[in-house]
Amino acid sequence: MKSLWNDEEAAGFQGELGLRVYTSRLLGREPSLVLHGGGNTSVKIREKNILGREEDLLYVKGSGWDLEKIESGGFSPVRLQHLIDLAGLESLSDLQMVNELRTHMTVSSAPTPSVEAILHAILPAKYVDHTHADAVISITNTKGGHQRINEIFKDLVVVIPYIMPGFDLARLCAQIFPAEASVNTIGMVLMNHGIFSFGDSARTSYERMIELVTMAEEYLNLHKSWHIGISDDSYRQKQVRTDIASLRLNASRAAGFPILLSTYTDPQCMNFINNHKIGKISQQGPATPDHVIRTKRIPLIGRDIDGYTKDYEHYFAENNKRTKDEKSMLDPVPRVILDKELGLCTLGRSAKDAAIVADIYRHTIDIILRSEMLGGYQALPASDIFDVEYWELEQAKLRKSGKPPVYSGEVALVTGAASGIGKACVHALMSRGAAVVGLDIDDSIEHMIDMPAFKGVRCDLTDESQIIDALEQGVRVYGGLDMLVLNAGTFPPSCRIDSLQTSEWRKVQTINLDANLAMLRECYPLFRLSPNHARIVIIGSKNVTAPGPGAVAYSASKAALNQLARIAALEWGEEGIRINTVHPDAVFDTGIWTEQVLASRAKSYGLSVEDYKKKNILHVEIKSSDVAELVAELCGPLFAATTGAQIPVDGGNDRVI
Ligand code: ZN
Repeated sequence: MKSLWNDEEAAGFQGELGLRVYTSRLLGREPSLVLHGGGNTSVKIREKNILGREEDLLYVKGSGWDLEKIESGGFSPVRLQHLIDLAGLESLSDLQMVNELRTHMTVSSAPTPSVEAILHAILPAKYVDHTHADAVISITNTKGGHQRINEIFKDLVVVIPYIMPGFDLARLCAQIFPAEASVNTIGMVLMNHGIFSFGDSARTSYERMIELVTMAEEYLNLHKSWHIGISDDSYRQKQVRTDIASLRLNASRAAGFPILLSTYTDPQCMNFINNHKIGKISQQGPATPDHVIRTKRIPLIGRDIDGYTKDYEHYFAENNKRTKDEKSMLDPVPRVILDKELGLCTLGRSAKDAAIVADIYRHTIDIILRSEMLGGYQALPASDIFDVEYWELEQAKLRKSGKPPVYSGEVALVTGAASGIGKACVHALMSRGAAVVGLDIDDSIEHMIDMPAFKGVRCDLTDESQIIDALEQGVRVYGGLDMLVLNAGTFPPSCRIDSLQTSEWRKVQTINLDANLAMLRECYPLFRLSPNHARIVIIGSKNVTAPGPGAVAYSASKAALNQLARIAALEWGEEGIRINTVHPDAVFDTGIWTEQVLASRAKSYGLSVEDYKKKNILHVEIKSSDVAELVAELCGPLFAATTGAQIPVDGGNDRVI
């Protein structure tokens, strides 16, 4: 591992805290050191307080900040002496500890200091860096790990046996460290947890971290335990979307609410899943408490995995039984599932949570495989994992996070999602917590939104094989389908019946009608596997009830689509599937309405553009977002008892009313 220190970059950061920010970001750039908010850093600074008295403060990373993007405001200033005094107490509950940290800050608006703050305080150096480096954990989690660490680092580090993070760990370090540190000591290794380095300058402390981790990497290399051989022929693509949706349904039922399930079948994952010892090595639990804290428990299940042959329905059934007894507090839902066909599956209440679990598990895979090569992987003992899960701070955090958004853990699919009403529907559904798959014939869909909760797929809906492929992709990313918005359509130029060619008529029916039949038919098996009953919203048109001359192909297609929706409501209502239609009119902020078209249409009515836009009974302008808000609400509890309905969004039209 190389130091990323760069004099020019460093010059952009001023003062002791500034350089602390800089080297923290350097650590954050290396995912094998810190992942998703893992790791923490500090600097001890003497400052004058408001009374003009000098005091020593520990600026330590605040919780909720990621080292990669940290700023000076992400460090919480805590009175140093108080922290050192606390380390001398016999005991302190975790909640008391957090109270002491928060009440001894000098900036009331600063974030809550890291729970590892006392550990930073007791280390006698200005700068302290702490990571959960993969290479170090690979060694501490191998048989004979303690001796190996001694052999590698000798007197460069003090080694602390495993103890759960929190006050007891800080207290233990406060006892062991001064007794065992020598003039050569530049760090501290916490078994099954991570590593500290420290120094008088930001650069020294950071580069010592790199030096120590490099020693661990070299040790692994020397013992032929560094390079992980990956063969990439292992995965053959086949259609698995209903298998995935069924697994997600089981997991959601066990959880008591819908959850997302993301799958990965790349060589790293498939290579691990096909390891001949997978049944043993995957079942031992996480590599470091940092991983447990943010992924909760990681039990693993898998079909066809040697030594672990229970299928997942059986697994969840067993788990459901268990929740009835005194273990009912155990989280019944695994965060990781390994499956020879489906790949690495990660579960979360949001797409971001599921993606974080995947990132963490990829590092766990590397740690396990290297430990196996070195001498045999040994995870934390089960009782310690349990301790971390029940850690009262974690419980408090969960309580504080409050009620999730209405569509948390649910998946929506929107057609014609790259512009206009479709795009507005994507935003309306995402803002309510849904993960959204957006389909569009335009390439821009693929990069429309760069967030874990959005997946854009280019798809020509008139090609049924492309529909199937898009559904397969969407389900692999989020695990199923709960809401469908059929929006894609075409609005051809005005043409009267006497000159309308059959080919033009057919083209409009193909897009506005046939494609929607195919969508509904292909989505139906997924609707049946939705944990909350699937909901469908059709974007209809005012033309269904109030057609106009020159638009027969369009109006006929929308009228037929209307019947399709009504019959779907009749056929699928038994299963709790709801399907409703909105009939927008005169929504001008969409692709088809250019300024020019708008101006010429207004002129033909003898109206200004402004008046033309509000040419309805209420004299209101209808925007894409107005339609989208109604669409999103139609999928929710407000309309739980409504199906087969048609709702105008047109400002009131005397021909419709
Ligand atoms: Zn830690």
